[in-house]
Amino acid sequence: MTIFEKILNNEIPSQILYEDDFAIAIPDIQPQLPVHVLVIPKTFATSLSDIGHWSSEQTAGYFQSIDKVAKHLQIENGYRVVFNTGSDAGQTVAYLHAHILAGSAMGWPPFSN
Ligand code: AMP
Repeated sequence: MTIFEKILNNEIPSQILYEDDFAIAIPDIQPQLPVHVLVIPKTFATSLSDIGHWSSEQTAGYFQSIDKVAKHLQIENGYRVVFNTGSDAGQTVAYLHAHILAGSAMGWPPFSN
């Protein structure tokens, strides 16, 4: 079981910043920017490429949750949403999650190697 499933099951404590029927939002334990929040769906998928089994309601609900979290965080100057998908992207937890990043200007492209 992944760390995010344990958080969803209340087996590991975390600060829940936001919750609705489709997702929870928690602060990233190793923030890369002043605002770094993870939006974790309540329905399992390993990554963005694994949501084909979700219903339309679950898919729409999850993406609307990401928008609601961003509004809740009041990050008026803008934010970036990142889905690391697979090993080349550096995905380390095999449970879908969106990173919401904000709080300072970000460069583009977002990689440095
Ligand atoms: P990814 O590389 O996209 O799979 O991102 C996984 C993220 O989960 C990383 O940014 C980690 O810092 C974060 N993370 C790992 N464990 C926890 C935890 N217990 N609570 C909050 N964030 C975590």
